[in-house]
Amino acid sequence: MATILSIESSCDETAVAILKDKKELLANIVSSQIDTHQLYGGVVPELASRLHVQNISIVLKEALAKAHLSIDEIDAIAVTKGPGLVGSLHVGIQAAKTLALYTQKPLIGVHHIVGHIYANALVNEIVYPCLCLVVSGGHTELVYMEDEMQFKVIGTTLDDAVGEAYDKVGRVAHLPYPGGPIIDRLSKQGKPNYSLPKPMDDESYHFSFSGLKSAVINLAHRIEQRHETLNVEDLAYSFQHAALDILVEKTMRAAKAYQVKQIMLAGGVSANSLLREMFQEAAKKENISLSLPPLWCCTDNAAMIAMAGSIMYDYQMFSSLDLSVKPGIDIELESRGGIDHGDQRAWNIWEKKFSYLVNCQKQRVFKIRRFAVIFHTLQTLPI
Ligand code: ADP
Ligand code: MG
Repeated sequence: MATILSIESSCDETAVAILKDKKELLANIVSSQIDTHQLYGGVVPELASRLHVQNISIVLKEALAKAHLSIDEIDAIAVTKGPGLVGSLHVGIQAAKTLALYTQKPLIGVHHIVGHIYANALVNEIVYPCLCLVVSGGHTELVYMEDEMQFKVIGTTLDDAVGEAYDKVGRVAHLPYPGGPIIDRLSKQGKPNYSLPKPMDDESYHFSFSGLKSAVINLAHRIEQRHETLNVEDLAYSFQHAALDILVEKTMRAAKAYQVKQIMLAGGVSANSLLREMFQEAAKKENISLSLPPLWCCTDNAAMIAMAGSIMYDYQMFSSLDLSVKPGIDIELESRGGIDHGDQRAWNIWEKKFSYLVNCQKQRVFKIRRFAVIFHTLQTLPI
């Protein structure tokens, strides 16, 4: 049993959560940058990184205040180590390392998708063996889990993620970013008037969404050339059915083949109301248990990282303090029994930098911009 403070900064949300004994979510603060990125029609990595630097200490302070805890009452610091945007991940990792080093508490580097998967554990008991369909802006994967923290990828997208396809279709239809939630809503008034291909309808458990994405782009061009008007509701309806039918079909087929006891959904697209309905129906028909993550933790948040961190804490899956950004990592390597290889040289450099900065903080010397994140984080501590 432990109280875990977690940081998530892999994309455009700066988030900190505090979870006690895997049950009590004492704080769950998310600072979204969406208003800024919406101006550009998608996430701008450099801007995201800068905003994380500005926000991290504010969100950290707010989380500790909300939980009525001091940093010394935290048992471990969990942080998203990847996959994600390098500049964004870097900010969370620097902050987490600063806290871990200052408090001398374990550091737990969490794979972002492991976090999405264990969002389910915030509301449901997970029954193994299970199968998780991970559907987000950057991922579309079928992950078989024989037991806790055991991951085997049995299917993946060969090109685009399904969330990426939603956002692209949103852009083609001139909808605000991100397209997913709006397409979900609009499709309820739509009809199947556009014919779109069912992507990668084969015997494998893999997916492909770039063909469907291109079909939508071509359709929009054709309509424009004929000076007709694109019916956005109908496009949303047709696109959703083409994209989601295959996800449900392949997941159900794999669930039977692997004889799992439970199916789980994870990631931003699992907030989709049609996908949730389709799975509820299919699971009922096949008499198999289904776990849907609650809507508040489908998209990126730190509560899910805290839950994954709590489970990893039980297995003492700690990272060495030279943990660095891992922009693309294989989830299978995150299984229990895996090793987090350290880099002693990198760590020596970091430790020197850290003690120098603690001294600067003590003397209130704040002029070194390069170390902004460590400084911001140190300022949340009673030094
Ligand atoms: P990642 O971590 O891979 O960046 P997230 O887990 O944060 O992605 O999910 C973001 C994605 O989820 C976006 O592509 C967004 O369009 C999609 N999304 C969010 N809500 C819905 C919804 N209701 N229906 C479909 N897609 C959605
Ligand atoms: Mg995510």
